Amino acid sequence: MKAIQISQTGGPEVLHVRDIDAPVPSEDEVLVDVQVAGVNYIDTYYREGVYHAALPFVPGLEGTGRVVYDPQGEIAEGTVVAWCDAFGSYAEQVCVPRDRLVAVPEGVSPDVAASMLLQGITAHYLTYGVYDLQEGDSCLITAGAGGVGLLATQMAAAKGARVFSVVSSNQKEKLALEAGATEVFRYSDNLAEVVRRRNDGVGVDVVYDGVGKDTFNESLEAVRPRGTVCLFGAASGPVEPFDPQLLNTHGSIFLTRPSIGAWTSGEGEFRMRAQAVTQAVVDGTLKFRVSSSYPLAEAAQAHRDLHARKTTGSIVLQVQD
Ligand code: NDP
Repeated sequence: MKAIQISQTGGPEVLHVRDIDAPVPSEDEVLVDVQVAGVNYIDTYYREGVYHAALPFVPGLEGTGRVVYDPQGEIAEGTVVAWCDAFGSYAEQVCVPRDRLVAVPEGVSPDVAASMLLQGITAHYLTYGVYDLQEGDSCLITAGAGGVGLLATQMAAAKGARVFSVVSSNQKEKLALEAGATEVFRYSDNLAEVVRRRNDGVGVDVVYDGVGKDTFNESLEAVRPRGTVCLFGAASGPVEPFDPQLLNTHGSIFLTRPSIGAWTSGEGEFRMRAQAVTQAVVDGTLKFRVSSSYPLAEAAQAHRDLHARKTTGSIVLQVQD
């Protein structure tokens, strides 16, 4: 089968198309033909070696396609499914852990199905789990027009929260406003100041920060005393080690660095969040913006565009018809 394989970690140029053997599912897995693979920022951390995987490896964690073979005979061949957490999804076939796949409802497009779970579940656990926003709460979301950002914005706005979004361009500002942001700022703004000016003089209840290094200090400044800074990613690089005393000086604030793994590890938690996201897609209450679609062979270009901050919403790879 054709797959993107990484033989040594590095820049986008290490993403090569290769012919490799198809994987063989264990009893806990289902073999699927991949139609579309989702591209996520986390894929770039594996490619760079920031997150470790044994070489050579096929990157990618999510996608949509048809079931080829279920060793337990529970899922019929041809069933259209979507998944996340199946390492090796940039390939014509992948083994998906059976507890990490969902049936794709009719009417959901392959591009949306391929990108709805990882980013959708992340946005869900951030806004319903890490800090369960209530009506009248306020939040600040960095990379507000990215994959997770646009979804978290919609979820937070639907809960009646005030959403302050940070983006890098006018086009991204427009998208964040369409998603329900109350106000959109730039990274060059003094976030602590502009947030307070628009938030009755106080910091926000929670900052959802997926940018990391470049925004972390401002995130600490922008939150209210006893508020929460949720550092959930590192698009600009990992945060430098810091003195925990800073949490005291900013008013006894809480800091968490969550992962989708931990926030889907409870009994039935993955299914609950996946169902909430899928249902919202079907109802039309959660809109996915798949801004770019690349052939599998152009995975390197997809990563380049993600790094260059050219993408908005989600992006996908077309693997096969
Ligand atoms: P995005 O679509 O949000 O792409 C990343 C965005 O980050 C860019 O579009 C850009 O938006 C912003 N950004 C800011 N600084 C930089 C920089 N120096 N280089 C590149 N981009 C920058 O990606 P995802 O939605 O896939 O992921 C968003 C974040 O969420 C990532 O950090 C990812 O690791 C994290 N994540 C964490 C999960 C978890 O469970 N902890 C799960 C899923 C994602 P702009 O131009 O507006 O600044």
